[in-house]
Amino acid sequence: MSRQAHTDSWYAATARPQPHYPELTESLSCDVCVVGGGYTGVTAALELAERGFDVVLLEANRIGWGASGRNGGQICTGFSSSPDKLIDWVGLDDARRLFAMTEEGKQIIRDRVARHDIDCDLTWGYFHAADRPRELRECEEAAETLSKLGYEAQEVVRDAERAQRHAASPRFIGGLYESGAGHLHPLNYCLGLARAAAQTGVRIFEGTRALTIDTEAAKVSTAKGEVSAKFLVLAMNAYLGDLVPGLRSRIMPVGTYIAATETLGENRAKGLIPGNAAVADMKFVLNYFRRSPDHRLLFGGRVSYSTLMPPNLPRAMRKKMLEVYPDLADVGFDFTWGGFVAITVERSPHLGRLGRRTYFAQGFSGSGVTLTGIAGRVLAEAIAGQAGRLDLFAKLPHTPFPGGRILRTPSLVLAMLWYRLRDLVP
Ligand SMILES: Cc1cc2nc3c(=O)[nH]c(=O)nc-3n(C[C@H](O)[C@H](O)[C@H](O)COP(=O)(O)OP(=O)(O)OC[C@H]3O[C@@H](n4cnc5c(N)ncnc54)[C@H](O)[C@@H]3O)c2cc1C
Repeated sequence: MSRQAHTDSWYAATARPQPHYPELTESLSCDVCVVGGGYTGVTAALELAERGFDVVLLEANRIGWGASGRNGGQICTGFSSSPDKLIDWVGLDDARRLFAMTEEGKQIIRDRVARHDIDCDLTWGYFHAADRPRELRECEEAAETLSKLGYEAQEVVRDAERAQRHAASPRFIGGLYESGAGHLHPLNYCLGLARAAAQTGVRIFEGTRALTIDTEAAKVSTAKGEVSAKFLVLAMNAYLGDLVPGLRSRIMPVGTYIAATETLGENRAKGLIPGNAAVADMKFVLNYFRRSPDHRLLFGGRVSYSTLMPPNLPRAMRKKMLEVYPDLADVGFDFTWGGFVAITVERSPHLGRLGRRTYFAQGFSGSGVTLTGIAGRVLAEAIAGQAGRLDLFAKLPHTPFPGGRILRTPSLVLAMLWYRLRDLVP
C-alpha cells in the first residue's frame, strides 16, 4: 500500500489511537462514494449515513492526512471574506442566513464532540489582536457588521491592559474578543469523526487514491478496485491536483506553516495567553497561535505559493514568533510542519454540483474547521433531495483564478505584496 503517514507534527505525536482502515481491492457499488478523508469528506459521509445512505469513502493516504490533520485548530467565525462583502454580494437577508449556517458549523463541532465523545481539547475563546489604531478601528467595524448579522458573542477590547489578558505581547493595543469562537486538536477531531462515520456504517478505505473520476456516470477507479455509485462527493480540496480541472480553476493551494515550541512549563505558557484563547493578529498574512494542553506555544503563519517547503522554515517561524513574544528568545521548536489551504478569489467557500450526480465542496480559504461541517451537512441534504441551502451557498461569487495554472501564482504573489505593504500603514 502506498498510503503516506500523517505529516510529522505535534498533532501526529499526540494523536489518539486510530484504526488502519483497509485499502480497496475489489469492485463495489454504493449509494454515495465520497473522495477525500478530511473534515469535508468525513462529515458528508457521516451525515449521509445518518440519513440512511450506503456510503463508501476513499482516502488516498490516512484519514486526516491533508489540511484537516495539520491546521491551526482555530474555530473561526463566519467566512474568510469580510462580513461587509457578504452583505454586498447577497443582500442582508441572505447574508444573515449564510452567516447563521456558519454558526451552525460551530454547533456541529459542539454536538459531534459531545455525541461521539471525541477527545480533541475543544476550548472556547478567540482574540483578534490589534497592534495599531487602524486595526482597532477595523475591529470596531467588524463587530458592528457581525452584530447586524446576528452575532453577539463578541466584545471590542479598547485598551492595551485588557488586551494583555488575552495575549500578553507588548505589541497589542486592543482587539476583538469572541467567546463564540475557539480551538481544538484538529487531527483528533478528524479521527473522532471518522470513528463515528465507521460506526454509522460508512465503509472507509485508506491508501486508496481515486485515479479517475467519471462525474457523469458517478464511477471512480483506484489502483486495485473501482466504485460505482448513484452520487459522488468530491472533497479533496487543496490536494485535488489535476483530477477534476473544472474545480481546480476556482481554487489556489497556498502553503501555510506551524511551529510547536518545546514544553514551556505551565506558568510560562499561561503567561503568554492567560485566558487560553486562540489568538490571531490582523495582518493580511496573519500570525495565529494558541497554547497546547502540554504547555507549548503552537505558532502559525507565513505563506508560500510554491509546492516546496520553504528553506529555513524554523528560522522564519522563529522570527515571526519573536516579533510577538520577544521573551521566547531562549525557546526552541520541537516540530515545524506545513500544509496547503485552498483559497478562492473571493475567500468564500465553493460548494456546488457538477452535472446531476456529483457534488463538491472546496476553497474554505482558511476557515475550514468551522465551515467544513456545515458544508458536509449541506451536501448530504442536497443528495437527500433538499437543495435549498446548497442553492444559497451557490449565490456566493466564485471567479476563476486568472491566467491558468502557471500565471495564477505570480498574479497572486503581486496581490499579496500589495496587502503586505498595506500592513505597514499605521
Ligand atoms: C497549516 C494549516 C493551518 C490551517 N489553520 C486553520 C485554522 O486554524 N482554522 C481553520 O478554520 N482552517 C485552517 N486551515 C484550513 C483547514 O485545515 C481546511 O480548510 C480544512 O481542513 C479542509 O478540509 P477538507 O476535508 O476539505 O480537506 P483536507 O483535509 O485537505 O482533505 C482532503 C483529503 O483528500 C485526500 N485526497 C486528495 N486527492 C485524493 C484522491 N485522488 N483520492 C482520494 N483521496 C484524495 C487527501 O489525501 C486529503 O486527506 C489550515 C490549513 C493548514 C494547511
